[in-house]
Amino acid sequence: MKRVTVFGATGSIGQNTLDLIARAPQEYQVVALTGGRNIAQLAADARRLGAELAVTAHDDLLGDLRAALAGSGVQAAAGQAALIEAAARPADWIMSAIVGAAGLAPGMEALRQGTTLALANKESLVTAGPLLMATAAAHGARILPVDSEHSAIFQALVGEDIAAVERIVITASGGAFRDWPLERLAAATLAEASCHPNWDMGQRITIDSASMFNKALEIIETREFFGVTPDQIEVIIHPESLVHALVGFRDGALMAHVGASDMRHAIGYALHWPERRDLPVARLDLAAIGTLNFRAPDPARYPALRLAGDVMRRGGLAGAVFNAAKERALDAFIAGRIGFMDMSGIVEDVLTHMSSDSGLIDAGITLDTVAHVDHLARVRADETMAARAR
Ligand code: NDP
Repeated sequence: MKRVTVFGATGSIGQNTLDLIARAPQEYQVVALTGGRNIAQLAADARRLGAELAVTAHDDLLGDLRAALAGSGVQAAAGQAALIEAAARPADWIMSAIVGAAGLAPGMEALRQGTTLALANKESLVTAGPLLMATAAAHGARILPVDSEHSAIFQALVGEDIAAVERIVITASGGAFRDWPLERLAAATLAEASCHPNWDMGQRITIDSASMFNKALEIIETREFFGVTPDQIEVIIHPESLVHALVGFRDGALMAHVGASDMRHAIGYALHWPERRDLPVARLDLAAIGTLNFRAPDPARYPALRLAGDVMRRGGLAGAVFNAAKERALDAFIAGRIGFMDMSGIVEDVLTHMSSDSGLIDAGITLDTVAHVDHLARVRADETMAARAR
């Protein structure tokens, strides 16, 4: 039996992961499931799947979790230390699907155990890519990408030499506002930004898709995961979201990964890797689809893409600054404190301000330095927002 742990089990990726695990219960022993505030879902899944342990990230919810698990035999725990302990429990496969920078520390602990880490939490690679990759190498752990684009690239590279890669093309749906007149974007509401045209995902990544901050994170993730240079990475708008990525080789060949917009494909590929197994995803009827469209992204609509270039040029801890400022600006947009187009301006201000301090940005990437600049970036983002509100 494969021993599996799922971080962020109550979220969109987590639930899709559990769906696949629940389809073959005889094949999996669920070691730990973790969640945040959704205690009812966490407890129900831990009971249903016979997990050894359920962990909520929030200390104040331990009593609720204990009550919800009473009589089940599932252990309950809460807080950051409990998340790290869950990551240290022996497992063959761990899904990293917490949203945001909070996913980094548990993922690092999992890698220290030498396990296979299925990485949906792209923020880990953006904030601390070199640290993550070095930790995996030092402990004989393997990182498998779960982001659909990165899974697609990974699959297109099977049997290939990365030195033969000329370019990597990541597709983007363009998000909720891809066809809106530019002047309307400043007034876009939370509800409007929370509707993705093709994918059913968590709210934060859905809004990040509309702003393309998600694509900006993915560009950096591509660089960190595959070790290509920034100028080898291209983004193209593909409204159908059926081609997930393309890898261009030096002989001019482009290998495209095409499939339904269903995260269970990428999750299932990572779960069964290196095998391919049956997955409950729709098979494409190409004749019915007929046409696939591609177009260049408009830089004025998606300033986040330019910022990704700035982050990669700056290097060091710039990714951690970028991600933290983005998370803070997103919090403010969700809370109704700033407009949709304000987010990129705030992130740019924080990035420019903090990147000028080379002592800070080039301090070396450790969990402590990442946490330090993450904190400073959030403070600076708050100051920037307060100054703009005056
Ligand atoms: P969701 O918001 O749906 O779920 C996030 C999960 O993380 C939930 O289990 C949530 O718990 C938990 N969580 C939230 N905050 C914390 C915290 N501070 N500490 C510990 N746990 C926390 O997110 P998604 O599933 O959409 O995304 C998860 C990750 O996967 C992200 O990094 C995202 O970028 C990436 N990803 C997602 C895709 C998708 O299709 N959704 C596609 C590709 C990548 P609770 O809900 O109980 O509070």
